[in-house]
Amino acid sequence: MKDIFIPAEYEVVRNPDLCIACRVCERQCSNGVHEYDKDLKKMIADSTKCVNCHRCVCMCPTHALKIVKSDDTYKINYNWPVQTMNEVFRQAATGGVLLSSMGNPTENPIYFNKILVNASQVTNPPIDPLREPMETTVYLGKKDVEIKRDARGMLVDNLPPQLKLTTPIMFSAMSYGSISYNAHEALARAAEELGIYYNTGEGGLHTDFYKYGKNTIVQVASGRFGVHEQYLKTAAAIEIKMGQGAKPGIGGHLPGMKISDDVSKTRMIPKGVDAISPAPHHDIYSIEDLRQLIYSLKEATDYKKPVIVKVAAVHNVAAIASGIARSGADIIAIDGFRGGTGAAPTRIRDNVGIPIELALAQVDERLRQEGIRENVSVVVGGSIHSSSDVVKAIALGADACYIATAAVLALGCHLCRSCHSGKCNWGIATQRPDLVKRLNPDVGKERLVNLVHAWTHEIQEMMGGMGINSIEALRGNRLMLRGIGLNETELRILGIKHAGE
Ligand code: SF4
Ligand code: SF4
Repeated sequence: MKDIFIPAEYEVVRNPDLCIACRVCERQCSNGVHEYDKDLKKMIADSTKCVNCHRCVCMCPTHALKIVKSDDTYKINYNWPVQTMNEVFRQAATGGVLLSSMGNPTENPIYFNKILVNASQVTNPPIDPLREPMETTVYLGKKDVEIKRDARGMLVDNLPPQLKLTTPIMFSAMSYGSISYNAHEALARAAEELGIYYNTGEGGLHTDFYKYGKNTIVQVASGRFGVHEQYLKTAAAIEIKMGQGAKPGIGGHLPGMKISDDVSKTRMIPKGVDAISPAPHHDIYSIEDLRQLIYSLKEATDYKKPVIVKVAAVHNVAAIASGIARSGADIIAIDGFRGGTGAAPTRIRDNVGIPIELALAQVDERLRQEGIRENVSVVVGGSIHSSSDVVKAIALGADACYIATAAVLALGCHLCRSCHSGKCNWGIATQRPDLVKRLNPDVGKERLVNLVHAWTHEIQEMMGGMGINSIEALRGNRLMLRGIGLNETELRILGIKHAGE
């Protein structure tokens, strides 16, 4: 329903000298913004429907379009910004919770941007990554803390199952349902080609993708959607989702319009009905309960699959991680408050949780203090923007990083933050067949592979500059980091010195 109180947020600007009325924009827009007016014999636009996904701008053959932020204004009021007023109007019209998607866009600090990386000079020279081997392979899972030998002096390998990654980057959980079949195919094939992993999220695994099982992490969330023995056994690892950075403390929500035939079959739920996964797992109210689920999953998969426990970054995340490390989990995944999602209540997304940088530093510190750091690997996600964020996260103590928003950007997402509408014009966060086919999985796979290759080269260059030739030597090496513009408390939590010290 159009709310007459809410003015258009964006304005569609069409250059009449360039527009040839080809109607491409009309066909490309799933929101019905563009229309050909037969009487006027020209294209017209309803800017109130525009979500600023930029599909029309990119597809217009004559570059006749641009989308601008509307300069329509209310009286200046720093206490009541326009967006806040519009949200009140929207809730007054609908009586509902404000829904949104993708990550938290608020102005909270991004600590990765306030951390600088060291470089070697003279006595500890840099390493040339083009001429010297630079090891980016990492193994995730519990490690032995001491070398053991048998009576013949041979090394005893008691390592539990590990995940081997050629580079410390994985594609984070995105469910089939929240994203399209073609997006999933692109992620699965890219993970296979790169020697890394993608993650099913809580939506089950489409049978077409069982062939990518050795590069697949399957998720077990509170709704248990699509979980069965074959699903678990097909995967390389199993992730128990206890929490998610975009919406800590609440469950998942897939709007009914995204539950197509195939999604309903894969998730084992009815078609067209909202899929709500509960906030808690109804069998987990303590670390002991969590341990039971971890060992049930290990038992079901003959102790051959590492088990990941994913939690949202919240105030007491270090204590939670300590419990998880003692619960038998092989890997802890921590998701920061900027993490993306297909649908979340706006207030939760923008106000709950803490930044991943602070959570990671505290978790690594706590696990080290308690002497259990090698019991688990730590993977972090929640707005990893670039290769330098990966380097900084590893130096703060991570073993690897999950990326999702960067991955969907590689697939063509323009961050319009309207995934929950199911009308993604780029064929990513939609199940509408006419939209899904806009994403070519061959092209998507190639772009994901390019992105991860590019980041890996940059990681190697940065490590070389530091005089470090392996991810292992970088992990937890906070001496390589300095803060800039951070106060004493922030520096203490991050466990780094200020630039110049
Ligand atoms: S796509 Fe471009 S040229 Fe074609 S009708 Fe739209 S604005 Fe005009
Ligand atoms: S995935 Fe699609 S709907 Fe979601 S933010 Fe990106 S472009 Fe918009």
